[in-house]
Amino acid sequence: MDTVMLYANEYFFDSLYTSIASITSTTPLPRDNVIRFYYDKDYMKHPRFLKNQHILEIKTAFKAFPIITILTIPWIYAEINGKTRLYDDPYERGVPYLFLSAGLFLLFTDFCIYWVHRLLHHPLQKVETYLSSVPYHLATIVIPLYKWLYLGLFAFVNVWSVMIHDGNYLSRNPVVNGSAHHSIHHTAFLYNYGQFFTFFDRIFGSFREPGDEIYDPKLRKSNATIKKVVEEVNFMEAKIDEDDKKIN
Ligand SMILES: [Zn+2]
Ligand SMILES: [Zn+2]
Repeated sequence: MDTVMLYANEYFFDSLYTSIASITSTTPLPRDNVIRFYYDKDYMKHPRFLKNQHILEIKTAFKAFPIITILTIPWIYAEINGKTRLYDDPYERGVPYLFLSAGLFLLFTDFCIYWVHRLLHHPLQKVETYLSSVPYHLATIVIPLYKWLYLGLFAFVNVWSVMIHDGNYLSRNPVVNGSAHHSIHHTAFLYNYGQFFTFFDRIFGSFREPGDEIYDPKLRKSNATIKKVVEEVNFMEAKIDEDDKKIN
């Protein structure tokens, strides 16, 4: 029963995150702030910060919960009832495999998220939200995973997803897709679709290196930087609207 409760808990948070992600994934940087552990109120002064933005985000998230929860039930059912490649004994495949499988999980999900994100970006928000969660379940069918390791990875994914939105830019690493990289995604939309690594953005030509103004808190909050960001957001929004019109 404990395991069942844990699963329920994990999946509830999964939908919670993906719902929130649906709002944050197509909007500029300041909208992310709703799920911060550390909330920098300075962002509320940002020219692109909407009136009642927090309430708006919470409302949108709650509207998405039921649909995403229902769509996720078959996955949970399969995982709990042994229909996936999750296994019970950590020694079944040896200890080194535990490390290898964790790495494979991150790479596999990063690759899938990259493409879900890139292909479905913007027009199909709710679909994208649900599909962004699918790779984490799909991994249990593709990669044999020790069940508790899977739960650990699942928890990690949730924490990580919040962290890349926290705007604190702790790491400056060419391989890790951190909050600096992801903030570019929220202001210029068509770059840095990755979740954990920068590999796939580099391979498929959507990588954009964060500049010094993103890593330095003083520069980041300077009027010049804010002006530049707002201009880019406006420009990219107009460009995407135009592209959408051409498609429709
Ligand atoms: Zn985001
Ligand atoms: Zn996005």
